[in-house]
Amino acid sequence: MAQIRIEDVRKDFGSFTAVKSSTFTIEDGEFFMLLGPSGCGKTTTLRMMAGLELPTAGRIYLDNEEVGQKPASERDIAFVFQMFALYPHMNVRNNISYPLKSQGMRRDEIRRKVAEVAEILAITDILDKPVGGLSGGDRQRVALGRAIVREPKAFFMDEPLGALDAEFRERMAEELRALHDRMNATTVYVTHDQLEAMQMGDKIVVMNHGVVEQFGVPQDIYDWPATKFVAEFIGSPPMNFLRFNGSVAKGQDSIALDGTEIAVPPSIDERSGELALGVRPEFVKLDDASSYRGRIAASEYLGTTQIVTIDTPSGRIRARIPSDATAREGETVGLRFDARTLTIFDDATGRALR
Ligand code: ATP
Repeated sequence: MAQIRIEDVRKDFGSFTAVKSSTFTIEDGEFFMLLGPSGCGKTTTLRMMAGLELPTAGRIYLDNEEVGQKPASERDIAFVFQMFALYPHMNVRNNISYPLKSQGMRRDEIRRKVAEVAEILAITDILDKPVGGLSGGDRQRVALGRAIVREPKAFFMDEPLGALDAEFRERMAEELRALHDRMNATTVYVTHDQLEAMQMGDKIVVMNHGVVEQFGVPQDIYDWPATKFVAEFIGSPPMNFLRFNGSVAKGQDSIALDGTEIAVPPSIDERSGELALGVRPEFVKLDDASSYRGRIAASEYLGTTQIVTIDTPSGRIRARIPSDATAREGETVGLRFDARTLTIFDDATGRALR
């Protein structure tokens, strides 16, 4: 069991800074997601925590012990790679027991532990099979088995499901989460898939261009994005932005958008200039009683819902509405936004006003 803390950690590759000063804490037993687009620095951050890469600056703590400059072999952690790096010439049992043999553990002890792990992963019946002929899911389970058999302090996983097809991916994601809930070992998981992060994570760090944009529980990140980047990266379709020039005072609870008063959560900050009102597609309602109006440009039927594209005086937005609601192209409709879910951003810095 382990708490992992990174403080002001930076990583340079030559003159390129892959990870800018980053600070966050992963609590003991958490399933923790490092999320962001390709090249944002999530793998580098994971590798520094694991000791596969040394930070240029800053400190990394594993259970309050500073391990930043220690190699992986001295950190008591386990890595699960995307490509299941199994030994192809060995059977399942020998693949799983390999780390224990190299530790010099007694044979009967090894047998007991492998049996235990096989039971957890439901692979007892394939223990004596060669790994060569196994399905993707079984190979994944064997790779996991080899990682958990050592009972490490923490697990590090870099897009472990990346190579699997969609259906399998979902099943393995559920299994991984269930496995975590049973073992309760701190797990750090890299993904670029926001849905995977939302579904599996206790907490998420969202990274962009080497910077930690936000860190928190999935619901807070979804409901209260700290930046426009996070608001767009999380959620599908992404959050809409209605741009306006205006000012917001402390405690102000409405704004004027093209002459219509729109109720917003009371502001804690004050700001004036180019601002953007962020509204999630699922919190836009078509309501003819509303004087804020837009024209339907397109609609896309998705079965249980439809996505309607609407041109408003402050820009184009998308709304997710029930599929049985009428939305005809070219029609002008009233729009109502759910006040609790609106976020105002400084359009220049991209930061949310609170
Ligand atoms: P991906 O999902 O594509 O792996 P990522 O978010 O995990 O993306 P990193 O692999 O951490 O990103 O890479 C961050 C940046 O650092 C990238 O621009 C990458 O090219 C660069 N980088 C990573 N490792 C090295 C290295 N050893 N030498 C030089 N540049 C590197």
